[in-house]
Amino acid sequence: MSYTSTSHYKSVLITGVSGFLGSHLAESILVESSLGNIKEDYRVIGIDNFCTGLASNVTYLKQKFPKNFLFIEKDVIQPWDDVNSILTEAIKSEISHVFHFASPASPPHYQRLSLETLWVNTLGLSHALRFADDIGARVIFSSTSEVYGDPDVSPQPENYWGNVNSFGPRACYDEAKRFGEALIYSWNLRHQTKHGLVRIFNTYGPRMNPNDGRVIINFLVQALAGQDLTIYGDGRQTRSFCFVADLINGIKKYALTDITFPVNFGNDREFTVLELAEKVQAHFAKKQSQIVFLEKAKDDPAQRRPDLSLAKKLFPEWGPKVTLEEGLSKTAQWLQLNSR
Ligand code: UDP
Repeated sequence: MSYTSTSHYKSVLITGVSGFLGSHLAESILVESSLGNIKEDYRVIGIDNFCTGLASNVTYLKQKFPKNFLFIEKDVIQPWDDVNSILTEAIKSEISHVFHFASPASPPHYQRLSLETLWVNTLGLSHALRFADDIGARVIFSSTSEVYGDPDVSPQPENYWGNVNSFGPRACYDEAKRFGEALIYSWNLRHQTKHGLVRIFNTYGPRMNPNDGRVIINFLVQALAGQDLTIYGDGRQTRSFCFVADLINGIKKYALTDITFPVNFGNDREFTVLELAEKVQAHFAKKQSQIVFLEKAKDDPAQRRPDLSLAKKLFPEWGPKVTLEEGLSKTAQWLQLNSR
């Protein structure tokens, strides 16, 4: 398998920069660049409308990189004329990548913002593609393991087509991401471009919104507050949890190639939700926190685990390094320092 690879980023634009992944990606690229001979005009330009992200993530980036981080508050579903006029031609000419990471990502938030979720991954993505083509940049779209739906194959390789309900509570997310993938495929063919996408499996870590609703952050917030840990269903459903730094390392490597096909990134250690709850209870919970079982969520996938063979073949030096225990500790530490 051969593909072209470059060794560094020029300036990049990230949609969804106040979100968990967007803010880590921004920081990681800025830190890496500042280790080399950073050019004065190097920038990470972040866009967000704060529909699910944290304003504190943007404040953090502004404070840490006052010269090289630029923020535009905007809903990327709307036309990008304002982005085009705010950014000078000189700034735009330096942008090598547009990471389209804007989207609600947790089941409670994407169900609450179902129409926004549908549009941001389709119409929003098309704005990003057009903007990128105008300036000669490469788009990287944040796709998801949800394209596999409730899989009847495990682990899930990239050539598995999935088992998705197109008419249910998760459809707004799953089908929007699937449309996004199809859009990239067709766009590349029509315009002879090299845009790409990564399929992201369950990721967690510091700077996730404490109200995000996904399982790790929920359990940790509950445990630290001395509340009961809420399992939806019987807890036998599985997930494979990736610490954010491992995921970002993989995405950065993918982006520097000209690969256009989907690649899974995540961690392939699989846990039941009950195992996770017991781990969190044992290490972080106040005495009174019990594990309680609530109603199972509709269309909840019974199992999820990435097949990482392709990622490891393409990027032999990449692989998930952070154990669940280490990752949980880092996330709990952040929560203790940052939540009131
Ligand atoms: N879950 C749970 N309790 C919670 C939050 C989630 O039992 O407080 C379950 C959820 O039903 C699913 C799994 O944990 O089976 C992972 O859910 P999450 O929302 O983190 O992400 P998903 O992988 O479903 O998108």
